[in-house]
Parts: sequence; structure tokens; C-alpha cells
Amino acid sequence: MQDNTFLACCSREIVTGRPAILGCPLDVTATYRGGTGAAPDAIRIASDSIETYSPFLDADLENSPFSDLGNLPLSGESLESSLTNIERAVSEILRREGRPLCLGGEHTITLPVARAINTVHPDAMIIHLDAHTDLRDSYEGSYINHATVIRRVHEITGLGRLIQLGIRSGTAEEFSWMREHGTWMEWGPGLDKTLLRRVGSRPVYLTLDLDVLDPACLPGTGNPEAGGWYYRDLERFYEALCRMHVVGADVVELTPGLDPSEVGTITAAKIVRELLLILGMNR
Ligand code: MN
Ligand code: MN
Repeated sequence: MQDNTFLACCSREIVTGRPAILGCPLDVTATYRGGTGAAPDAIRIASDSIETYSPFLDADLENSPFSDLGNLPLSGESLESSLTNIERAVSEILRREGRPLCLGGEHTITLPVARAINTVHPDAMIIHLDAHTDLRDSYEGSYINHATVIRRVHEITGLGRLIQLGIRSGTAEEFSWMREHGTWMEWGPGLDKTLLRRVGSRPVYLTLDLDVLDPACLPGTGNPEAGGWYYRDLERFYEALCRMHVVGADVVELTPGLDPSEVGTITAAKIVRELLLILGMNR
């Protein structure tokens, strides 16, 4: 077992121009099954079971330095102060020209990260991979939680900067909202060109809710939704991503306690490896 850092990690400090893992174990607004706070460390431990080399990208983390800044100490904090701490930490990574890769925790972490990204990259496109729309205006009496997070993010970015992929669950109102605002893209063969055209040369921030994957690949998540992506679909998406200027990403909503086989956790580690390699590519 490793000393609590992701695979082949070379530094615990922010390195200019390189990806930096930041654990954001926020786990307070889950409405069905909690436990995402354990994910950053579970992903680090699971990384011990995968290689540093990615055959798909033909790239190796041994030659692509990154840092792992550990976890933000969020336990016992209010939601509000946790969000402030996440925004501050991500802003510091961006100020030092690092590329944040935030590990949730629940999806709510994307709100403070998007605030930090938007300050530095006011034209960034947000690509949202998820089974769920996450577009409620409020949920169970609160405006900031895992079910409203993308609605709040859209309030920051405004029109034309949000793309949603993999979506297959939400209310009729949320689906109407997506159609009306043109945020929803079906994903399939040939659509990489449409996606690349929509993104253009703008910087990209990727928020990846792991429940975009089919529960057969990733059962360990709070709200599994049948009919999802298989890992191959994600690889087709990586091909498009490799041609974009990706300035940051997050991987959220893994619940290790619901993943007794650890297959989902190891899959999450593989996804993190690929994103580290993509974030580390020179453009
Ligand atoms: Mn989801
Ligand atoms: Mn989500």
C-alpha cells in the first residue's frame, strides 16, 4: 500500500504547469446514500493496483510529473466554510499555474471550483458528465447541494458555456431546461466533431460524476442509474478531450463503502490516471 498519495506522485507541492490532485472529501448534502468523503483516499489506495502506463494514451505517469496535495481538512466544517476552503485552495493552484484535479466528495464541490476557474478563465467551457441533470433550482429546501450544483454553476458561467453528456435522469422541468438552454448533447459515434466544434479553442473544465458510467462498471455510488456509459464510451470521450485545452477537472460521487468488490474504485483510479495524463499534455 502506498503512503497515501496517488501512483508515482512526485511532489506534495504545486508544480507550475503540472496537474495537482486535491482531495475534497465533502460529504454533507447526500440525500440517499452518503459516504463519498472516503473516496479520495480509497482512490489513492486503489491506484496501487494499476500501472503508471496508459496503453490507450500511450503515455506514462513516470514521464508526466504531477503532484498530490492531499485532502482538504473539511470534517466538522459547515457547508459554507468547506466551499470557501475549496475555492481558496483551487485558486491557489491556478495562481501558481497548476492544473487542479479535484477528487470528491460529493458533486457540490464543483461549485467553488467553477468559481475559481471562472475567475482565471472567464471563457472556459464546462463539460459535465453525469447520469443526472443536477439542475434543480432547489432541493429539499436548500439551494446548494449535489442536485442543484450544475444549475448554480450555470449561473456563474451564463449561456453557451455548459455542455452536458451522459444525462439520463432528472425531472421533466430539468430536461426542458436543458433543451431550452441547449446544454444537452447525446454522445455517440461521430459526435466528437460536434463537441470539438462547440468548444473551439476555449479552455475546458471537466466535471465527471462517476455515475455517468453504467452501474455494471461502477456500482459504488449514491444514486446509480441504469443505462449508462461503458468504459469504452469514456475512451472515445478522452480522444476528444486530448484535442482540447483542459485546464482542470474533478472526479466526484464515488462511495467506496458501497463498492465491496472495489472494481468501481479501481476504475476511478484508472480514470484519474488518464485525466492526469491529459491534463499534463503540452499544448
Ligand atoms: Mn449523478
Ligand atoms: Mn452529479
